Amino acid sequence: MTNIILKQGKEGALLRFHPWVFSGAIKKIDGAPKEGDVVEVFSSDGKPLGVGHYQEGSIRVRMLSFTPCSIDSSFWESQLLAALELRKAIALFEDGHTNSYRLVHGEADGLPGLIVDIYGNTAVMQAHSVGMFLARKDITMALQKVFGERLKAVYDKSSGTAPFKANLDLKDEYLLGEKQLEPALENGLKFEVDWEVGQKTGFFLDQRDNRSLLEKYSRGKSVLNMFCYTGGFSVYALRGGAKEVVSVDSSVKAIEQTEKNVLLNFGEPAPHVAVVANGFDYLQDIQNKFDLIVLDPPAFAKHIGALKNALQAYRRLNALALKQAKPNSIIFTFSCSQVVSREQFRSAVFAASVDSGRSVRILHQLTQPADHPISIYHPEGEYLKGLVLYVE
Ligand code: SAH
Repeated sequence: MTNIILKQGKEGALLRFHPWVFSGAIKKIDGAPKEGDVVEVFSSDGKPLGVGHYQEGSIRVRMLSFTPCSIDSSFWESQLLAALELRKAIALFEDGHTNSYRLVHGEADGLPGLIVDIYGNTAVMQAHSVGMFLARKDITMALQKVFGERLKAVYDKSSGTAPFKANLDLKDEYLLGEKQLEPALENGLKFEVDWEVGQKTGFFLDQRDNRSLLEKYSRGKSVLNMFCYTGGFSVYALRGGAKEVVSVDSSVKAIEQTEKNVLLNFGEPAPHVAVVANGFDYLQDIQNKFDLIVLDPPAFAKHIGALKNALQAYRRLNALALKQAKPNSIIFTFSCSQVVSREQFRSAVFAASVDSGRSVRILHQLTQPADHPISIYHPEGEYLKGLVLYVE
């Protein structure tokens, strides 16, 4: 195993369980590690600090353990078991109404660079690092061990997430079983999830709790669900008794899937319309038609360099909705950009409120659900921010 020796005084972050070693902290690399190799990290005076996956770029090691250990089948099994233990503790899945959840949320589950989402009896995996991609078969075996017979399929969908510079031979594929056709179940609602062609792992599990909150506000309301993807918020609004729901997304596939999901839950006469449109264009002229508006755009900033433009985009988007909001209406507004902090998002919505000249109050401050936990040692894992606004 390659040894990575840190500069003097650079061990503090690892001693506080922060899982990244930056290139500037490294004094010496004993050996010539390849991207994805497991390496052992030491302080400048030779104290072992743990093991991790080596990678190129400014983050050089993503830690898998803060004590020396081998990364073998029992490591993967015990990490996945611990992840499952946390999901059991949430007790969300025991009423039989929800069978879809995030099992592994990267750093927060001690597995930096790995996402595993469960949809019924299928696990969909995304590797964001070469190390996790190379470990995909070991991870599949560990998933089988942890879930036993009830796991029918494992789909690896890393082609869009693993570092493309590493020249890996990336193709999405089943590492176990084949496509399962059962719809995913979330709080008793059915969603057809197409992990093979859909965005991310096929569904945005992270909005589960926020959709439930929206359901409670929906009775008798005219609801506009902007950036609807496969219609999560729309389906909850309809069950909540919305008078009318309009779903908007720029993706034709997403809109088709939204229509299918509405049909799957309510049959034909649901008061629902789905529109393919650019969100900013559609919002130019909604006038005061809606009592409840959801703004859940894609991450406007995927890296820190895009932050300024992203904040302007959040301001513009929210101002458009706020200006036209019906008196005494409600807006659910979100940012899923990791590089945008909660304060920055709130400031952008503040600026939008000022632009609109409306009286705006915050009713709820929303975040990601418990199956997307945040390690206290890795606050960067907090990414989903939401505000529920009351607009007079
Ligand atoms: N609210 C959704 C998730 C939204 S993801 C849910 O609960 O499942 C963001 C969505 O925005 C994606 O479906 C993407 O297709 C869509 N999108 C991206 N850019 C857009 C644009 N300019 N106008 C409209 N939709 C857009």
